[in-house]
Amino acid sequence: MQFIETRGNDGVNAKELNFSEAILSPSASFGGIYVPEKLPEFGTEFLEKHLNSHYKELALDVLQSFEIDIDEATLNEALSRYDAFDDPANPVPLSKIEDDCFVMELYHGPTRAFKDMALQPFGYILSKEAQKRNENYLIMAATSGDTGPATLETFKDQNNIKVACLYPDGGTSDVQRLQMVTEEAENEKVIGVVGNFDDTQNMLKELLASEDFKAELEKRNIKLSAANSVNFGRIIFQIIYHIHGYLELIRQNEITMGENVYLVVPSGNFGNVLGGYYAKKAGLPVEKLLVASNVNNILTDLIDTGVYDMGSRELIKTESPAMDILKSSNVERVLFDKFGGARTKELMDSLNSEGKYRLTPEELALIQEDFEATYSEDDECEAYIAKYAKEGYIMDPHTATCMKSYEKSTPKDLKTIVYSTAEWTKFSTTVARALGSDKTANDTEALQWIAENTDEKVPAMIDELFSKEVKHGMVVEKEFIKDEMLKFL
Ligand SMILES: *Cc1c(COP(=O)(O)O)cnc(C)c1O
Repeated sequence: MQFIETRGNDGVNAKELNFSEAILSPSASFGGIYVPEKLPEFGTEFLEKHLNSHYKELALDVLQSFEIDIDEATLNEALSRYDAFDDPANPVPLSKIEDDCFVMELYHGPTRAFKDMALQPFGYILSKEAQKRNENYLIMAATSGDTGPATLETFKDQNNIKVACLYPDGGTSDVQRLQMVTEEAENEKVIGVVGNFDDTQNMLKELLASEDFKAELEKRNIKLSAANSVNFGRIIFQIIYHIHGYLELIRQNEITMGENVYLVVPSGNFGNVLGGYYAKKAGLPVEKLLVASNVNNILTDLIDTGVYDMGSRELIKTESPAMDILKSSNVERVLFDKFGGARTKELMDSLNSEGKYRLTPEELALIQEDFEATYSEDDECEAYIAKYAKEGYIMDPHTATCMKSYEKSTPKDLKTIVYSTAEWTKFSTTVARALGSDKTANDTEALQWIAENTDEKVPAMIDELFSKEVKHGMVVEKEFIKDEMLKFL
């Protein structure tokens, strides 16, 4: 299958690419991104076939249905990364928390957040493709906390790939920072930046745009790629677990084949829920995709009113920082799917020049056929964390944003799957506070308090972080980043 561009073609870029090319060079014409030219069928026939499939068998079939130019051995090798998850037989367990509500836990990989679901296999494939072409790539990431550790983890010691990861000093949890600064691999570099996440991201953009830096990369024969969720190589792996969750509900006799379900997705860059959208379009019986946000509720406004307005907003720091996002990149893929390339370009041009765009009432109606949206304040999330903890289920603050959606937006008598995107251990001070503890000054005491006062255990990979040697102690001012990068390269 070929991959096409969301904003049309500029006559310079190729109009369509293979999967491997689209993941190595993920930026398309006019600042657009790549999408599959059509979707496979994941309706009843496909679902029947996989009623008894292991996650990896299902995954292989989903990937191959897209007819991507990656051989089966490489795909199997990539999928074997799931063998290192807590339970290789079931990498994404489903927990029942209400009679009609189930939490699918996407965080049982090495860095305890859902980013591993896609980045683990994706990292293997990207490195293989680079080796095959005898090319060297630099992946640069700016992280607010979860993407950084997951990107470092997947590419560590992988040939032909170097990773540089920038994080805002003081802007992440202790666990997230330690996951990055204790990284030992020689092909990876971690730099703390003086400033917040926005500053960090702007610095990365400046660096990537600098001619001088590009020339230095060229001299060293290094190409740039990206591992953020604009890369379709990540999205494709985020379709699989939506299908798997549906099959699990059938296997557990909670639904019958063909019955619709609600999917509630805590959303930031819209990559997770986009996977659910593609699954629905391909035939998975989904009633609605419920987009959960925090007070940075630009997606709620878009889905309720058809207006996407960045200009009137300032980013607000919340207890669900992975969703503190105003520019939600993957919405563009839905716009393209529904309205085509010319209209998508028009809307994105308007977003770039005026900071906003407005859908027509007809367009909004088409969005609302598939999506509904809700947002929660931090104190509402803490209340949900406390409520479910009393019933024996500990959830992280991102997952907690879903519970109001579940209560408010699911009027029909249908089952709901809520996606849990991080383990509580990554946001332990918030969870401890929600549970009424005063041991919330740092992650060490919060983790310990929760382990002592609930049935939860701190997993070894989190516990070990506190005694590991810090390899990347560097925190720099903006103007020194380029020098540091060049030293590393
Ligand atoms: C990345 C992330 C999200 C947001 O996912 P998107 O695909 O960007 O919408 C939500 N929760 C957690 C914990 C994350 O790490």
